[in-house]
Amino acid sequence: MARQALSLRHRLRHTWRFVRVGMTRYVGNRPWVAGIAGTLVALAMSILIALEVGAGRSETLDHARQTSQNLVSIISADLERNVEIYSLSLQAMADVARDPLTWTLPAPERQAMLFDRVTTAAYLGGAYVVDANGQVAAAQYEDANTTIRLDDREYFQVHQRNPAAGLCFSHPYTSRLRGGELSIALTRRIDDAQGRFAGIALLAIRIEYFQHLLDRIDTGAQGSVFIVMTDGTLLARKPLAAPEIGSNIAMPPRFREMDTHGSGTYEAIATIDGVRRIYTYTHVPGTPLIAVVAPAVDDVLAPWQHRSHVAAALTIGFGAVFVFVSWLLAFALRDKQRAQAALQRLATTDPLTRLDNRRVLDKRLDDEWRRAQRERKPLSVLFIDIDHFKTFNDTYGHDSGDEVLIAVADCIASVARRSSDLVARYGGEEFAVVLPDTTAEGAFAVAEQIRRKVESQVIVPEQGAPRGVTVSVGCATALPPSTDVANGLDLLAAADQQLYVAKHQGRNRTCSAQWKEGAAAQAGSRAGAGL
Ligand code: GH3
Ligand code: MG
Ligand code: MG
Repeated sequence: MARQALSLRHRLRHTWRFVRVGMTRYVGNRPWVAGIAGTLVALAMSILIALEVGAGRSETLDHARQTSQNLVSIISADLERNVEIYSLSLQAMADVARDPLTWTLPAPERQAMLFDRVTTAAYLGGAYVVDANGQVAAAQYEDANTTIRLDDREYFQVHQRNPAAGLCFSHPYTSRLRGGELSIALTRRIDDAQGRFAGIALLAIRIEYFQHLLDRIDTGAQGSVFIVMTDGTLLARKPLAAPEIGSNIAMPPRFREMDTHGSGTYEAIATIDGVRRIYTYTHVPGTPLIAVVAPAVDDVLAPWQHRSHVAAALTIGFGAVFVFVSWLLAFALRDKQRAQAALQRLATTDPLTRLDNRRVLDKRLDDEWRRAQRERKPLSVLFIDIDHFKTFNDTYGHDSGDEVLIAVADCIASVARRSSDLVARYGGEEFAVVLPDTTAEGAFAVAEQIRRKVESQVIVPEQGAPRGVTVSVGCATALPPSTDVANGLDLLAAADQQLYVAKHQGRNRTCSAQWKEGAAAQAGSRAGAGL
């Protein structure tokens, strides 16, 4: 179990390292992929936040509508309850007034009979019984001027004409009985015993009652709340706009919509002040009244706007930082990878000739040796040394010596061109070439090609006859499995031995050992001029 867990952990770590290295390399080579990915992520986040902010806007508006709905319900309930009380009072007055006996009673008793059951609400202007001629027959408060005639009033004439008018609401009017107070009248018809029009029972309600209802409601800086009659007559408004009270504010088609629906909500720009508001309205049951709450869209959205500005600023700020950091990291990774590659090149390359150095040679030799063993294929190496290079250096100077080294390196590299071949500077004026899957014969041919190319191409201009540079080459080949050498380094040593032979035999020549048949089986040696 423990071993299984260990192996799983090992595998996970291995996979993670594989993914990490792969990703790092991928991104390092294509920094724009990471930059674009980072930008897209930031963009996606911004879009999500924008959607969220957008959803917040409609939620805020919904919430405002809900609050308005509650407010109009409260106003409506208050109005409904009061109108019910007034209606009962009127009914009681009408019932008592209809009885002829009432009018035979002495004034105090008659007064008590008529008005004892009448409510005494704060905003009630007064209760009256008006006779069939429009003359005030009785008033709740005795100081009322009973000589005033009301037969020209609209509410009087409605009942006079229509026995079935029921409870009537008048338009706001300036009271004649209470010194010009703006009021509305709630009235009921009084019939005599024969069903003829005998007058009206009247409750005068001061217009302040409606205003007072609205005073407690907070509508924000630009919001408004109002009570309007179904024909558009304004009864109260907050903020108070006194000259408007009693005027008609019905504006088709919006008002018609309000008039025909029991309740609802709509958004519109008010013609009075040009402010966009959300109008939520409801009809007060049993009355011709509509309660309307209309907060301004700007007021409602102000907190949301503040929040969305903060969210936008943060999103843009963090998004920009995220995008910037994505690109920065991507390019930093690329630079790091490049620097690493350059370092690696430096560590494995000979600075003068640009060939691989000894470190690479050792590693490749070892690898190729193993591969040759595995695949049972021949492996050859060449050891190349420039002839009399010390003398050359002494004669022409070190700089010319360096140039020759570079030219010889180029010659060798141009001949050993297979992708599997490796040309390395072994040290000083010595080079090694690893030739995988190459027989002794093939290696000998390559060596000869190199030798001849150097001889013919690396010419030093000299006064008189130009002087050529020559190399000596030692070859060694291993043919697994029957081989005497134990590893790649041994094979190289064998090539060095052949180089020694070549030098000994007079230089500018190639010597090879056919290792398949043992170190003694030398394939042959040839000298450029001698063969
Ligand atoms: P041989 O034919 O037997 O190889 O004689 P040689 O003179 O080439 O051999 P030796 O080993 O005596 O001399 C090698 C010389 O190579 C010594 C040094 O002056 C020269 N040399 C080694 N490295 C460099 C180098 O990087 N630049 C230059 N210009 N010369 C180098
Ligand atoms: Mg040497
Ligand atoms: Mg030499």
